[in-house]
Amino acid sequence: MKSLRLSRIVKTFGTVEVLKGIDLEVETGEFVVFVGPSGCGKSTLLRVIAGLEDQTSGTVEIAGVPVDAVPPARRGIAMVFQSYALYPHLTAAGNMALALKQEGVAKAEREARVAKAAGLLDLTPLLKRRPAELSGGQRQRVAIGRAIVRDPKLFLFDEPLSNLDAALRVNTRLEIARLHRALGATMVYVTHDQTEAMTLADKIVVLNAGKVEQVGHPIELYNSPRNLFVAGFIGSPQ
Ligand code: ADP
Ligand code: MG
Repeated sequence: MKSLRLSRIVKTFGTVEVLKGIDLEVETGEFVVFVGPSGCGKSTLLRVIAGLEDQTSGTVEIAGVPVDAVPPARRGIAMVFQSYALYPHLTAAGNMALALKQEGVAKAEREARVAKAAGLLDLTPLLKRRPAELSGGQRQRVAIGRAIVRDPKLFLFDEPLSNLDAALRVNTRLEIARLHRALGATMVYVTHDQTEAMTLADKIVVLNAGKVEQVGHPIELYNSPRNLFVAGFIGSPQ
């Protein structure tokens, strides 16, 4: 079954058309990376999938179900942002459990899910700390943990590594790849970093000015870029 299907997604802000008819299919369990220059519409597309932004026209289907009328909390997705967006007054455990609490999940179940996610992310010794007492990398792991505890059908990552220094970026990238294997979840990941795209993706979607330029396996895009834009972005020099 397709985890995600986008059909002719158009988004305009005022008179500016930011997404110009995006079609895309994502298989269950696939790791799909959206790459493209700043301003090409990557975040807007993720926000439309998440339901944080209404598309102007077109359809979003998640696990075979049209979700255009379904609010973000009920789409079975979890989103991880560049800017962690943690609550400063809550501990790591409190941040991870918050959405579950709001959904009415019982305390024992919340604690079990937080403990499991913390184990996966090496966060167990840090659960009682508040965000100010954590490093950038640890905060981003808490943000990822907050997504995992909800057991989403689909993970959306919007440039999750761009606030981390180079060494942490590599570690966290490997961690995300490991999580993808461990959870078997579908992941859609936005970056403007070619290395992240080439190393993480089962499938890369190259976006340019609100349109899909090319979709393919990293090696396919690298070896056979369809045009100069794709070549310049991830292809081999020609
Ligand atoms: P990316 O994530 O690829 O850098 P964005 O999706 O954030 O790009 O933005 C794509 C375009 O849409 C940009 O030109 C941006 O200025 C514009 N845009 C994004 N959000 C809004 C908004 N809420 N109102 C008006 N314009 C927006
Ligand atoms: Mg963006």
